Amino acid sequence: MILDSFHLSGKTAIVTGASTGLGEGMAEALAQAGADIVGVARSSCDGARKKVEAAGRKFLEINADLVSLEPIERIVEGTKKEFGKIDILVNNAGIIRREDAINFTEKDWDDVLNVNLKTLFFLSQRVAKEFVAQGNGGKIVNIASMLSYQGGIRVPSYTSAKSGVMGLTRLLANEWAKYGINVNGIAPGYMATNNTKALREDAQRNAEILGRIPAGRWGTPEDLGGAVVFLCSRAADYVQGYTLAVDGGWLAR
Ligand code: NAP
Repeated sequence: MILDSFHLSGKTAIVTGASTGLGEGMAEALAQAGADIVGVARSSCDGARKKVEAAGRKFLEINADLVSLEPIERIVEGTKKEFGKIDILVNNAGIIRREDAINFTEKDWDDVLNVNLKTLFFLSQRVAKEFVAQGNGGKIVNIASMLSYQGGIRVPSYTSAKSGVMGLTRLLANEWAKYGINVNGIAPGYMATNNTKALREDAQRNAEILGRIPAGRWGTPEDLGGAVVFLCSRAADYVQGYTLAVDGGWLAR
């Protein structure tokens, strides 16, 4: 039956950036659909652990700084040691730095590109090798942004990285579809998390943004639950290289 194809029972999902915000919300949704979760972040993932365990699933926390590639092997081996296999990777960890392009520093460029794009690629590559060796395909979901489609202002490294994420999602889908690996993206709209705290605290920017969202509200981590479960499930087996906007209508304006 159709709803069975959305179930993730028996699956193991790695979610990067699971310590808060959208990653914590997606970890909870995947667990409610039946997956055990490996949460990756620099700080504690206790919030995600509680939600995953409340859904009756297992949770493994791996503390790692994804600004470098060093933790990748540890994440993959730790997951295999605990759960024996990997079925799903959600590349969600991301940072943003705000400054006028004219004054933007090399560090703010490198840090954002490293976490949001370089590690996303090499972690995907390492997990895809595992998927190929396991022989059952797999699902990769990359978290993109409205700035995969638009330029934005004062966020040059973020726009570059997120535009890259959407292009890379297409490329990886093209190359890896033959292994039964689905690579897709989710482009969240303006969501109420730490990432957008500065915008929401600026009364003028907050009003401008809200006024442009057809749904008339900021998104929440729960708003991504349906999209991530779908893209990680058998129901999406023929969906490849697509970035699904979950944006309250922002891109439709
Ligand atoms: P958030 O609340 O700032 O959370 C970011 C997550 O990424 C945290 O779990 C953080 O964990 C992790 N992270 C950041 N740097 C890391 C590093 N060096 N190593 C390991 N983990 C790291 O942001 P969010 O809004 O939930 O964003 C999640 C994703 O959605 C990001 O890719 C973001 O760009 C994207 N996004 C957000 C919005 C929005 O409106 N909020 C819109 C579009 C796209 P630690 O700090 O504990 O390491």
